[in-house]
Amino acid sequence: MTLACDLAAAAWAERVAGAGKGADDLLVVLVGSTVGAGLVVSGKLHEGASGAAGDLAHVKVHPNGRICACGQRGCLDAYASAPSLAAWARDDLRIAAAAARASGKQPGIGRRLLDHAGGDPERITAAAMERAAHEGDELSSRLLDEAARLLGQAVANLIIALNPERLLLGGGLLSGSPRMRRTVIEAVEQNLSRAARAALHIGAPALEEDAAVVGAALIAREALSR
Ligand SMILES: [Zn+2]
Repeated sequence: MTLACDLAAAAWAERVAGAGKGADDLLVVLVGSTVGAGLVVSGKLHEGASGAAGDLAHVKVHPNGRICACGQRGCLDAYASAPSLAAWARDDLRIAAAAARASGKQPGIGRRLLDHAGGDPERITAAAMERAAHEGDELSSRLLDEAARLLGQAVANLIIALNPERLLLGGGLLSGSPRMRRTVIEAVEQNLSRAARAALHIGAPALEEDAAVVGAALIAREALSR
C-alpha cells in the first residue's frame, strides 16, 4: 500500500468505526514519520485523480525553504515530520557551533537537547526535542513551535478549501507532544475563515496505529459486497 492509500484507509476506518462516525465531511491529519491527510467528502472517501489527494506533506509552506525528500523546497514535510524536525535541529546546532567557533565562545544553544541525545547530534530525535523543550531547551521549543505553526497553517488552508465538519488531528508525533498538538490547534483556529470555523469540530483519531489496517479491511469488504 502507498502512503496516500494508508491515509485514505485510516480516514475511512475513522469514519466507519472511529472518531469520525457520522461525519460526511471529514479530514484526518496524521503527523509522524511524515505528514498526510485522508479525506472523506460527502460521505465518500476522496482519493483524487491519481490517488494522491490529501498529500499534505508536499504542500509548500516556505518559498525556497528547506529541501524536502521529494526534491522540491519548502514542503511542509521538510519542517513538521519527525525525521525532518530532528534534521532541522541538527542543522541549527551545526550553524550555532560554527558561529561560536568563529567568535571563540562556547556554543550555548541546544545544550539540553544534546544531553538528551547522549551528546551525539546524530542521535537527536523529535522525542528528544519534546523532552528537552519540556526542560526549557530554547532550540527545541522554537523548532517544535515553528513546525506546529506551519502545520496548523497548512491544515487551516486545507480546511478552508474543503469545509469539513470534523478534523481528527493525530499521529505519533502529535500524540507524543501535547505542546505541539496544542500549538497546531491554535494555528488552525487563527488561520481559519469564519465560515469554515463555524462548521468545524476538532478531535483526535480513535484508532491511531490500527486505522490503516482496519480501513483497508473495511474497503475490501465493501468492494466484495458491491
Ligand atoms: Zn516535498
